[in-house]
Amino acid sequence: MSSILKIDNISKYYGNKTNLTKAINNISLEVKKGEFIAIMGASGSGKTTLLNSISTIDKVTSGHIYIEGNDITTLKGNNLNKFRREKLGFIFQDFNLLDTLTAYENIALALQVQHISFNEIDKSIKEVATKLDILDILQKYPYEMSGGQKQRVASARAIITNPKLVLADEPTGALDSNSARKLLEIFKTLNEELNSTILMVTHDAFTASYASRVIFIKDGKIFNEFTKGNDSRKEFFDKIIDVVSLLGGDANHVI
Ligand code: ADP
Repeated sequence: MSSILKIDNISKYYGNKTNLTKAINNISLEVKKGEFIAIMGASGSGKTTLLNSISTIDKVTSGHIYIEGNDITTLKGNNLNKFRREKLGFIFQDFNLLDTLTAYENIALALQVQHISFNEIDKSIKEVATKLDILDILQKYPYEMSGGQKQRVASARAIITNPKLVLADEPTGALDSNSARKLLEIFKTLNEELNSTILMVTHDAFTASYASRVIFIKDGKIFNEFTKGNDSRKEFFDKIIDVVSLLGGDANHVI
C-alpha cells in the first residue's frame, strides 16, 4: 500500500518564551492509502491541533506534512485553497451545513467550484445519497433533519469530490448512540468498499473501535498505537479501553 500522508517531525507551539504550550511536540506518522485511523487522547492532548495542521487550517511551527508527496506546509494562497478543495474532505462535530440550503444544495456546493455539468452533479449526488441512505431527505433543510441525518449529509458533501483524505473531527460527538453507530457503519463501508482513507479525531472508545488503527496522543506526542488486525471490534474496543484507562480518561463507555 502506498503512503498517502506522511508527517515528518512536526511541532506546533502556542504562546511565547515565557508562556509556551507545546500543543504538538515532534510527531511523525505515516498513513497508507485505505487506512481508517482514529486519533485518541485526553482533552488538551493535541488531537485537534494535529488534525488542523493536516487540514492546513493551522500552520506548524516546524516539520513537514506531505499529502501524496506534496509538502502542504509550503503551500500558500490559491494553491493552498485548491489543494484543500480537491484533495481533502472535512467532517466536523457540528456538521457545518448552510442553513439556507437544502441537503441537495449543500452537497452540490462541494462540486460547483469544479467545472462539472449539472447532469453529472445530479448523478453524483444521487449515487452518494444512496450510499449514505439520505435520498429521501435531499430536499430538506438542516432544521428539518435529525443530527444523524445532518451528519450523513455533511459526510456526503465531504466525500463527493472523491478526496484523497477524509478528515473528521469528533464526527459522532453530537449524535445519539444509534445515529453514531449508523454513521460509523457508513464510514466503515466508505473505507472498505471505496478505499477512502479516513483520519478521525475522537475521545470516544466506541467510535475509535471502528477504525483499523488507533493512535493515542499524550502531551503533544504519540503515546501508543495499535492496529485492529484480525481482532473483532469488541476485542479491539477492549484494548482501546485499556489504554484510555491508562491515560486516565473516561472508560465507562461500553458497547
Ligand atoms: P485536544 O484536541 O486534544 O483537546 P488541542 O489540540 O485543542 O487538544 O490543544 C492542545 C494544547 O494546545 C492545549 O494545551 C491547548 O490549550 C493548546 N491550544 C490549542 N489551541 C490554542 C491556541 N489557539 N492558543 C493557545 N493555546 C492553544
